[in-house]
Amino acid sequence: MIAPLLAALPMLATAPPPLDDAPRPNLVVIFTDDLGYGDLSCYGNPTIATPHLDRMAAEGQRWTQFYVGASVCTPSRAALMTGRLPIRSGMCNTRHRVLFPDSTGGLPASETTLAEALRDLGYATGAVGKWHLGHRPEYLPTNHGFDSYYGIPYSNDMDRLPSAPSGRVAITEPQIEYFNVPLLRDTEIIERPTDQRTLTRRYTEQSVRFIRDHTEGDQPFFLYLAHSMPHVPLFRSQQFEDVSLRGLYGDVVEEIDWSVGQILDAIRGLGIAEQTLVVFTSDNGPWLTYDQQGGSAGLLRNGKGSTWEGGMREPFLAWWPGTVPAGQVVPDLGTTMDLLPTAVLLAGGEPPSDRILDGVDLRPALLDTGPSPRDSVFYYRGTELYAVRLGPYKAHFITQEPYGQNTNRIEHDPPLLFHLEHDPSERFDLSADHPEVLARIRRLADAHRATVEPVPNQLETRIPAD
Ligand code: MG
Repeated sequence: MIAPLLAALPMLATAPPPLDDAPRPNLVVIFTDDLGYGDLSCYGNPTIATPHLDRMAAEGQRWTQFYVGASVCTPSRAALMTGRLPIRSGMCNTRHRVLFPDSTGGLPASETTLAEALRDLGYATGAVGKWHLGHRPEYLPTNHGFDSYYGIPYSNDMDRLPSAPSGRVAITEPQIEYFNVPLLRDTEIIERPTDQRTLTRRYTEQSVRFIRDHTEGDQPFFLYLAHSMPHVPLFRSQQFEDVSLRGLYGDVVEEIDWSVGQILDAIRGLGIAEQTLVVFTSDNGPWLTYDQQGGSAGLLRNGKGSTWEGGMREPFLAWWPGTVPAGQVVPDLGTTMDLLPTAVLLAGGEPPSDRILDGVDLRPALLDTGPSPRDSVFYYRGTELYAVRLGPYKAHFITQEPYGQNTNRIEHDPPLLFHLEHDPSERFDLSADHPEVLARIRRLADAHRATVEPVPNQLETRIPAD
């Protein structure tokens, strides 16, 4: 009698649970603003100390070829929140590249957000931080699937008051009162101007409180923490003044690193680490035109606003002790748009099937059961497709300086072609050597364009000036 029982035990111990019974993880998405590929110690920065993010990387995965959906704030956030390229939601524009305080548009109600998808699956949902997907009440987080919201509705350099100095000096030598940015709780303004010095700390406190409040019981949670920093103007709390070898920008990133430590410590302390997937990334590359107050894309070319790698490739860490392998470096392709289908599948649901999703299921790579299914990346500037990556190759149909209308806009025929694994800095054009690769990428671009339906543009409409 004993032998058959023993023989059966290993099967009991190792058989995977049926999918329906698999525990549904909590999800925390930490999204910074304008942080570059080269701004963390675990991505090679020599003078910004990020011990908490480095530990997160050591305990989880560090991806090296992970992308966002656009190189500026609004469309990148739309991509993350919808799992779709912003061209499909009308959340990108060539003339007005982001939403402004006088914009009247926002993320359409017809889009299914990550928060709505997870709430439909029984998750509690909270948003903390910068939104920038529309600040009119109908566009705010609490009308897009979040149970609660605490944060600023657009960028921290907006709402500049007439009394502030003109030009760059208001940004590079900032005072709180130059920027009349409101702080909201749900849809109500609770502070204006926002005291930006304590914003990172207060976002952290709100986030930890949300996690604590949603740990009891069986209901999983989704927390979206979108830091306003290190987008200029740079502010940090007193505790982080002059702590970094990298100066003011380093102070700001080191406070964000502290924040990550607080959140992971709370999750560990509450005993929910093995039920919680935490990811960390940023919305777009470093704002290089702000010199030392902008970050670094490391070895990647250019930064925010451009379709070179430095504009759209970002640090990406994934942490889920016991499920995501510890200490793994992942060179597979991934994007922020992949988080929606991946999270919905982890939650036991099905991604929306009534629309085109640009995101793919990253579970094989996250759970180390196989490669990422993604083999391509589309790089838009505004509403125009500038470049396409297929496997290791990237073709630039158009290149342009990151800012200014038509500044050095160059159409390339043949397109520039780079092998990003051999040449991550995009220095050596291979177009003459590989016409067959260019032909494949052109076919892919044409097939992609054929899937894009015209929709109302949400960034075009602004209140006329008096
Ligand atoms: Mg940004």
